[in-house]
Amino acid sequence: SETSRKPKYSDSKHLPIYRYKAKLIQAVEESTFLVVTGETGSGKTTQLPQYLYEAGFSRNGKIGVTQPRRVAAITVAQRVAQEMDCTLGKEVGYQVRFDDCTCQDTVVKYMTDGCLLREVLADPGLSQYSVIILDEVHERSLNTDILLGLLKNNFSNPSKATKGRSFPLKVVVMSATLETDKLSAFLSCCPVFAIPGRVFPVECTFGSAVKPKDVESTAYVKEVVKVALDVHTSELAGDILVFLTGQSEIERACDLLFEKAESIDYRYDVLDQTVEGLLILPLYGSMPTDQQRRIFQPPPPGIRKCVVATNIAATSLTINGIKYIVDSGFVKQLNHNSRVGMDVLEVVPISKSEAEQRAGRAGRTSSGKCFRIYTKEFWEKCMPEYTVPEIQRTSLTAVILTLKCLGIHDVIRFPYLDRPEERFILEALKQLYQFDAIDRRGRVTKLGELMVEFPLHPGLTRALLKAASVGCEELLLPVAAMLSVENIFIRPGDPDNQKEADKKHRALAAKTGGMNDFATLLSVFQSCKSSDRPSSWCKDNWIHWRALKSAFSVETQLREILLRLQQRKDFPVETFDGNKSELFRRCLCAGYFTNVARSSVGKVFCTMDGHGSMVHIHPSSSLFEQEVDLNWVIFHDVLVTSRIYIRTVCPIRYEWVKDLLPKLHEVDVYELSSVARE
Ligand code: ADP
Ligand code: MG
Repeated sequence: SETSRKPKYSDSKHLPIYRYKAKLIQAVEESTFLVVTGETGSGKTTQLPQYLYEAGFSRNGKIGVTQPRRVAAITVAQRVAQEMDCTLGKEVGYQVRFDDCTCQDTVVKYMTDGCLLREVLADPGLSQYSVIILDEVHERSLNTDILLGLLKNNFSNPSKATKGRSFPLKVVVMSATLETDKLSAFLSCCPVFAIPGRVFPVECTFGSAVKPKDVESTAYVKEVVKVALDVHTSELAGDILVFLTGQSEIERACDLLFEKAESIDYRYDVLDQTVEGLLILPLYGSMPTDQQRRIFQPPPPGIRKCVVATNIAATSLTINGIKYIVDSGFVKQLNHNSRVGMDVLEVVPISKSEAEQRAGRAGRTSSGKCFRIYTKEFWEKCMPEYTVPEIQRTSLTAVILTLKCLGIHDVIRFPYLDRPEERFILEALKQLYQFDAIDRRGRVTKLGELMVEFPLHPGLTRALLKAASVGCEELLLPVAAMLSVENIFIRPGDPDNQKEADKKHRALAAKTGGMNDFATLLSVFQSCKSSDRPSSWCKDNWIHWRALKSAFSVETQLREILLRLQQRKDFPVETFDGNKSELFRRCLCAGYFTNVARSSVGKVFCTMDGHGSMVHIHPSSSLFEQEVDLNWVIFHDVLVTSRIYIRTVCPIRYEWVKDLLPKLHEVDVYELSSVARE
């Protein structure tokens, strides 16, 4: 039955990749590593895995395809299952963190790069796979970069390549044109297969709205809406793609486009309204997939489609029929903020190469136009040439622990495509040492081996394991789950509803004493779970039902991981006496002592991690402007705007962190750096 699954859609024959089918199959057969490049939309992601399947590669194991973004993994799997005329989750499936839609019979598996990294941990030889395709490598996500180094390490040497396997693994690395020579050189000078594609000219114009120093999102959201409506009224037929940075901006822009903000709730309804022949469709990562699917459908006759999207539409997903681009010039990016000493999600100007990529989306099938709302001066002065790879700008803590658990101790000389700064590696080692995940000699501890099993931030894992060791995991599992999904508190935006939502949210916090945001998360989780009609409970309380539902599922999965680990004989057990609220907060301290702040002047706090940043409690916290005197607090994360805000906050006592705080300063980075090289 293997070859009976022929593509159902004949239009895949019109994709640029189709003519190169035989040559591509041959190229994969002939070498261990292959770099494939081609314009976005040429058919790499959806077609190549099907070609390899047809050619019989799956007889030796699965064909695994990684994506940096979970939405891309899911949507593409859906599409390919459709093309191969099978049920999603059977022959074609996907796996993303906390959501596995595959089975024994799955032969083409799309997954996030993070998932494959976890699989390497369990099975370094990747014995279940015949082919691994690393896709979207030009995005340079942290996990993809690490996978590149690992695959190079494990499979470039022919004798090593078959270790633990009965046949050699094939590795295909796909990229939308960037840096292919560099990739080939990195992978033992492997062949590069370039799929020629036609691109049509795109005429780009600069605007006047965003000048250097302008980063106020309300201004550019209004401007992109204005430009999109201008295009709609004055340009010939063709769909519009608008680039913004995230969900709330996109919803705001859609509201403005509809001009009837209060009647639409994107969280529950599929959008159907058209405004004067304009079909408005939002597209962002945490959107339900059934709504995402509508993005790809052609609009009804005589109607123009306007997709308002995050960067996900730049390369991971190709939408046909786009002729006009409206580019805000910004992107949301996770960056290590040296002022705060932590990773922070920030809105930053895109790079010039990113802007070219966005513009290119308009020239896939005919010539197009790109309207940049920023000035030429902004382009010249504020936009870097290229996007800095994630590995060079974010915390490496989780990844370094993974490498250590894979037996790679020399984390400084690991083959990185682009080396992270040594201080980032040392920072990661220091944090792992502080969490007791590695010892002074850089060796993984028993605790570290347990920690690596959880797909969570090491601090959160540390708190969870602490709770499990004193027998109160029931308190921490829901909290860890709630912090792993999108924000559960609905923020309606318009003043009247906002007031109502704030009131409900305050009431929820008050149920637990109104002094601990972590406890509020726990209480919301439990209240909803024990409710007879959880979805209406959420509606009444202005809580995202969809987000909470995923938190329920995440909690179950974390519980399964924990139960499995608790079977081990050496699972730590401690005793503790004291009341429940104290116990809860002390467990949190075990993981969050790196995020401790102490009251300073007025309502200002000062962080205790050596950075001594001045921080404020975020208005979303139940501790915001409380009359009570707060002395010491821990917090989950920070938001940087004109001020530094701490979010998800909980008061603690100094005695609880007294013994932990010295750890923040005790480690000698030179000692760790020498062990890092061993
Ligand atoms: P590449 O990986 O080279 O960028 P893809 O394989 O993602 O190209 O896309 C090939 C074609 O398949 C594009 O024309 C795209 O619009 C179409 N396509 C991809 N996913 C879907 C989908 N879910 N629904 C409809 N068309 C899709
Ligand atoms: Mg692709």
